Amino acid sequence: MNSRHSAWRTRSDELNTVDELLANNRAWAREMLGNDPEFFSRLAAQQEPQFLWIGCSDSRVPANQITGLQPGNVFVHRNVANLVPGEDLNSHSVIQYAVEALKVRHIIVCGHYGCGGVLAALRGERVGLVDYWLTGIRALRDREQAALDALPDEASRHARLCELNVIEQVFNLSRTLVVKRAWDSGQPLHLHGLIYDVADGLLQDLGIAAGNATEAGANCAAARERLTGSG
Ligand code: ZN
Repeated sequence: MNSRHSAWRTRSDELNTVDELLANNRAWAREMLGNDPEFFSRLAAQQEPQFLWIGCSDSRVPANQITGLQPGNVFVHRNVANLVPGEDLNSHSVIQYAVEALKVRHIIVCGHYGCGGVLAALRGERVGLVDYWLTGIRALRDREQAALDALPDEASRHARLCELNVIEQVFNLSRTLVVKRAWDSGQPLHLHGLIYDVADGLLQDLGIAAGNATEAGANCAAARERLTGSG
């Protein structure tokens, strides 16, 4: 073996790791072609995903793997704590493109238990730039203070705030111009709120699926009431 090459390889674990990723990628592409020789040429021509996924950046919650979806099936936006803040150009650009250009039929907001962003907001921790990003969850925590305080421990409060955050984001989504315009024009579009448990790998439907603004308002309010015990 070339000694310079082996020295280079042992100097940096990180480069070894990226080498492994590239090797994995070649093996994966070969396998996909083995199963379906037209797979990549078909995808290269166009994408027609039915779903837009808005999830957390957390490495344990990868949209495609946990839903069994293939490349081309789901348009994905991920950020810390799966938020859709009104002023965020990034998420709203993704939503507009997904709804108006790709004509996705479903938008899924997926939260997860054990979310670090939600925990930072719950505790009121100051950790840097992300504090600005989490402003909306801190406001939600303050609004739901009584219901959260009634829970026995921080783990339950954390889990509940993760759930309430998904409901809040689905409601926000239902009030965006892009979604309202789609509904007003009769475009079929459903919003969904899911939560993923990193401890067992299972997704749970929070029961707030909505195909119009009235349904979204009613279902989000009912789910919030179920979880907080208040109307
Ligand atoms: Zn998270």
